[in-house]
Amino acid sequence: MTDVRTGEQRQGQGQRKRVFIRTYGCQMNVYDSDRMADVLRPLGYALADAPEQADLVVLNTCHIRERASEKVYSELGRLRDTKFERRAQGRDLTIAVAGCVAQAEGQEIVRRQPAVDIVVGPQAYHRLPELLAEAERKSAFRRAGKRLPGAGVLDTDFPAESKFDHLPAPAGVHAGQAFLSIQEGCDKFCTFCVVPYTRGAEYSRPVAAVLAEARHLAAAGAIEITLLGQNVNAYHGEAADGSTWSLARLIRALAEIEGVARLRYTTSHPRDMDDALIAVHGEVPQLMPYLHLPVQSGSDRILEAMNRRHGRDLFLRLVDRLRAVRPDLALSSDFIVGFPGESDADFDDTMRLIDEVGFASAFSFKYSRRPGTPGWAMPDQVPESVEAARLAALQALLGRQARDFNASKVGATVPVLFAETGRKPGQIIGKTPWLQSVHAEGNARLIGSIAAVRLTAGHANSLAGEIVVRPWEAAA
Ligand code: SF4
Repeated sequence: MTDVRTGEQRQGQGQRKRVFIRTYGCQMNVYDSDRMADVLRPLGYALADAPEQADLVVLNTCHIRERASEKVYSELGRLRDTKFERRAQGRDLTIAVAGCVAQAEGQEIVRRQPAVDIVVGPQAYHRLPELLAEAERKSAFRRAGKRLPGAGVLDTDFPAESKFDHLPAPAGVHAGQAFLSIQEGCDKFCTFCVVPYTRGAEYSRPVAAVLAEARHLAAAGAIEITLLGQNVNAYHGEAADGSTWSLARLIRALAEIEGVARLRYTTSHPRDMDDALIAVHGEVPQLMPYLHLPVQSGSDRILEAMNRRHGRDLFLRLVDRLRAVRPDLALSSDFIVGFPGESDADFDDTMRLIDEVGFASAFSFKYSRRPGTPGWAMPDQVPESVEAARLAALQALLGRQARDFNASKVGATVPVLFAETGRKPGQIIGKTPWLQSVHAEGNARLIGSIAAVRLTAGHANSLAGEIVVRPWEAAA
């Protein structure tokens, strides 16, 4: 869960209203939260640091895990109390639920928590101004003692027009880094996943729109751009001449934009790693040597039950081909343990795959049943205690691999893009090309730039380093 940036960073003159946006889940949601802030800014909304300071609270939700949506309902209970306290003082608090829980549960959210004013799905947040006006109108009616049918204002459509055509230019470059959403939705229908239901069918933004946004971000100071999509390597954007560009072709064009020193993309599906994209990893230096490629399981039987449309061998062959063109590639992945029917032998297959590949980092979860997905009704659900034991073993192995990967870089001097100050005074934190966190002593003026850092110590989740060449020294 991530909160978008502070009000102080964004507050402009003449802005009186404040919005607090709480973001749950993935990078796509972080991007969407930024874009919601962009939509609200012309209405006079500055960002607040906490719900207590806000006139409008938006919960941008994630539906991947069951507990995540329960957290949303707990948060809504707290917000209802704040709303009632405000009303007693003659003020109001508007509560909006956005994102995938909004899409999946729609009216149910207002039924469970009538204090919610707006429910807006991920494809409709460009309509927030209209929804706010409608919520305000309803609220005014109620204040006047008039009865209205139904509570809350809902928009969970998949509109025919793209939200991207209706969004203002993004403001969002932070410490030299920016996200750029190029693709949404998914047609894969993995049996554990709600994304095809909450985000809809695959949609790729047109090439011209992506390039224009990237140029805008570069002009605003972005030196690293991360391309986002639920299934980003399925990108197939239409170009002005009517041709269709793949992700590989798009990356080559983005690498030509002046000032863009680093490119990344996430999240990918193994089936969509085509020859051209593999080649780009070896040929475009701006594409960082890091790839998040979810495999979920090492067992063919379980991969089939998950409807992943790839087997263990395809994944291993991809890893070999990627490492052949980019030997220093750091691989990251997602793993689900305890999918229905997963036996000890299936789990051992996953552990062997991890051993064979060697991951620099990974995200791993116990299988969580999601209503509306085929996995919900599957027989042989794995007991929680078995899931917990398997997850502990898997995370221990992945943790060792992450530590080993970090240790393997100690002694090297690498470019680090600094992004924030650390907890200790005088400490700044940045990222290596392999997306490792690096702590170093340095002046905060380095934030947003790349400096050469000698790595001095490796830990489980980060490295320590010493800055050896600052950007202005390199330029001298
Ligand atoms: S490919 Fe990814 S987003 Fe699509 S259904 Fe599978 S897990 Fe969900």
